[in-house]
Amino acid sequence: MSPAAAPSRDCPACPRLVAFREDWRAREPEWHNAPVPSFGPERPRLLIAGLAPGLRGANRTGRPFTGDWAGDLLYATLLKFGFAEGEYDERPDDGLVLIGARVTNAVRCVPPENKPVGAEIGNCRPFLASEIAAVADGGAVVALGRISHDSVCRALGVRLAAAPFGHGAEHQVGRLTLFDSYHCSRYNTNTGVLTTEMFEAVFSRVRAFLDGA
Ligand code: SF4
Repeated sequence: MSPAAAPSRDCPACPRLVAFREDWRAREPEWHNAPVPSFGPERPRLLIAGLAPGLRGANRTGRPFTGDWAGDLLYATLLKFGFAEGEYDERPDDGLVLIGARVTNAVRCVPPENKPVGAEIGNCRPFLASEIAAVADGGAVVALGRISHDSVCRALGVRLAAAPFGHGAEHQVGRLTLFDSYHCSRYNTNTGVLTTEMFEAVFSRVRAFLDGA
């Protein structure tokens, strides 16, 4: 199977996001300021699909979930459940290695105020679909948040009514199983929508699923 398709650094598909990207390239020329490539092995057993790069996180560092709070919780959890080795230190050269897991975003370019619009989510879906297609048979996808969940379902041709989003929900979607979690954003954790325990429970379940338990 060929590796997942990735957008070019100057992908022109979303004019609003291109303008935002260009603005930040002028303001912060040392930052990544481009579609953020996925992180992890090319043919994973687990794909984790977030929403979009954070402005001062992945958009700055160039690695998904790297450099902001969401990454602190995500990578600590992946380390805890054997999906990563090494140490997460908020930078792409920290040596962290993902084991059988790959991290991507439903939208590859940073959106203003962390809010992509429907057309942008749709424009970027072929790249998400390509990532999903590269997951090994019998594997799993973890969708972080409803927008990611919906885009994963649409990429798989699954009706949203047949697979409603819910924290801790599981859905069989063809050859893969979809697990849902609330997004590990600072907002969700600060407001108590998502606790560390709730997040770990999802990955504990995914670990057991992939281990055949
Ligand atoms: S969000 Fe995706 S489709 Fe839109 S410009 Fe960026 S890489 Fe291209």
